[in-house]
Amino acid sequence: MIIGSHVSFKKDTQLVGSVNEALGYGSTTFMFYTGAPQNTSRQPINDDLTKEAMEIMKKNNIDINNVVVHAPYIINLASNNDFAVTFLKEELKRVEQLGMTKLVLHPGSSVKLSKEEGIKNIIDNLNKVGKSNVLILLETMAGKGTELGKTFEEIKEIIDNVDYPLGVCLDTCHINDAGYDLNNFDEVLDLFDKIIGLKHLKCVHVNDSKNLINTHKDRHENIGYGTIGFDNLIKIIYHEKLKNIPKILETPYVSISDDSKERMYPPYKFEIEMILNKKFNKNLINDIRNYYK
Ligand code: FE
Ligand code: FE
Ligand code: ZN
Repeated sequence: MIIGSHVSFKKDTQLVGSVNEALGYGSTTFMFYTGAPQNTSRQPINDDLTKEAMEIMKKNNIDINNVVVHAPYIINLASNNDFAVTFLKEELKRVEQLGMTKLVLHPGSSVKLSKEEGIKNIIDNLNKVGKSNVLILLETMAGKGTELGKTFEEIKEIIDNVDYPLGVCLDTCHINDAGYDLNNFDEVLDLFDKIIGLKHLKCVHVNDSKNLINTHKDRHENIGYGTIGFDNLIKIIYHEKLKNIPKILETPYVSISDDSKERMYPPYKFEIEMILNKKFNKNLINDIRNYYK
């Protein structure tokens, strides 16, 4: 099982910190942002730390081809400005310098443009960015606000018109919120195959959802605690056709108050345990509290 979670990438420890955090959760892969997800300020990569991280990964059988980087979610390729293009080019260089092969990208939001203009900008801007050694994975979106990439058809249109190969990252919370029924995942996957092609699928973001199908909200929930439910998520995670694809948790940190202080703790160690045991843990919050206190 290739499973892991979103982990941090800190200034002083960079990739070494990320790998060690992932191993602490019992992960066999991980995902990280090269800085804060919500801004584009980035530190130079420390190659010594990268080398050290590679050794730790090798020792623990983490394949770099299963590790994914996530681009900051504020860059908007659907807009007309060149900043997103310049930033994405730089980001791809950073990803390559870190020895990584895949970058997950939110396609963009049309904001005041029409859907068609937004998609055209995404295509033009990805063509301006150009081919690199890093495979860009377009993420399926919830359709919150004016987000593009909320249907398989929109993703397909981008892939067909960009002049180099692209992959796809399927986010379970997002497709639920976008209107795909995960009670019938086989049908959803067949549809994905028919419209986009399964060969493009390179990563699955495994998240439960706080909201009902087709609500276009994009609020992630802990595994088994949302509207998708534990059994449906297990079916997806263990699906034969997704066997060799990395599964990444982006579920919310759990807020626990002790001594009148409110602290946030990562749920990943316990969610990964649930998944590997295929057994829902209704005491998740308590287990997290006891572990981290
Ligand atoms: Fe994302
Ligand atoms: Fe996601
Ligand atoms: Zn999301």
